[in-house]
Amino acid sequence: MSYFIDTKYLNMVSHRLPLFVKKKTDLWNCRCIICGDSKTNKRKARGYFYRQKNDLYYKCHNCDASQHFGTFLKNLDTHTYQQYVFERYSKGENGPKAHTNAEEFVYQHEPITFTVKPVLEQVATKLSELPDDNEAVQYCLSRSIPRSKFIDLYYIPSVKDIVKIAPEYTSIKTEEPRLLLPFYNEQGELTGVTMRAIRGEHLRYIMIKLKENEPLLFGMNHVKKNEPITIVEGPIDSLFVDNCVAVAGTGFGKIEALGLDKNLIQIVFDNQPRNIEVCKLVEKYIKLDYKVVIWPCNIVAKDINEFVENGGEVRRLIHEHTYQGLMAQLKFTKWRNC
Ligand SMILES: [Zn+2]
Repeated sequence: MSYFIDTKYLNMVSHRLPLFVKKKTDLWNCRCIICGDSKTNKRKARGYFYRQKNDLYYKCHNCDASQHFGTFLKNLDTHTYQQYVFERYSKGENGPKAHTNAEEFVYQHEPITFTVKPVLEQVATKLSELPDDNEAVQYCLSRSIPRSKFIDLYYIPSVKDIVKIAPEYTSIKTEEPRLLLPFYNEQGELTGVTMRAIRGEHLRYIMIKLKENEPLLFGMNHVKKNEPITIVEGPIDSLFVDNCVAVAGTGFGKIEALGLDKNLIQIVFDNQPRNIEVCKLVEKYIKLDYKVVIWPCNIVAKDINEFVENGGEVRRLIHEHTYQGLMAQLKFTKWRNC
């Protein structure tokens, strides 16, 4: 009987649920009113009501809200909820004894649990949820970034909106859209973001730190620490390499703080033999006995992304040109004079 009452009340409030539709027996779908669903695609509907035993539940595949229909209703409309509680727990075939049913009694006192929208999605949208004509999607496609990575990348329609999740960055005043690359730590907590210009702005990257005292390394949430790890400079470059972490800039010092097995690490610096800073870094890490990739002279691409765009195979490049110790020193000297 309780499932029947749940569905009765679902139908009663269904006119308030955008794009509400019965999909099949025991399954209904609507736009999620908790997170507001996709901001850019008004046809997206990722909220589902489904049956489990004798109860109706709600689940959103966008914000991961997951709750009993009663909780959903309570948050939607207190008045209707009161009627619902009365009908569900004091009448019908369950009779007054329902009040002594421990499970349902506990449910009645369930606190309001609105799942908080993942913080980033308050200001940005995953590329995997955007149409191909979106500017950031276009930008990534033009740079040959694999579509499989679109789930980790975001589009922020106005860069200024970042203050909603990083209130101390009020100095950001411009409103251009950007490609947003999120940084997570190993625990999967958002530690920062970088926002890449897609309209040719002078300031190519805007870095935002969201957690104090956490090194910003791109890809830490996916890295397998027991397998060979490649370290690169640019977050975008890292999207082309297996098990890869980007130091975002030349902050390679962060690597040592990670406590990774040195023997599993190989570092790919940008292919810029005329850049004194890059050369200093390569030399430093050769001396520290890290494995480093020394680009062969016949490759003109200045970084991994350009190399891929020119049709290069990164896996092969790393496999064939990783050196350590004396050999690395020799190849480095050669590279400097390419
Ligand atoms: Zn939702």
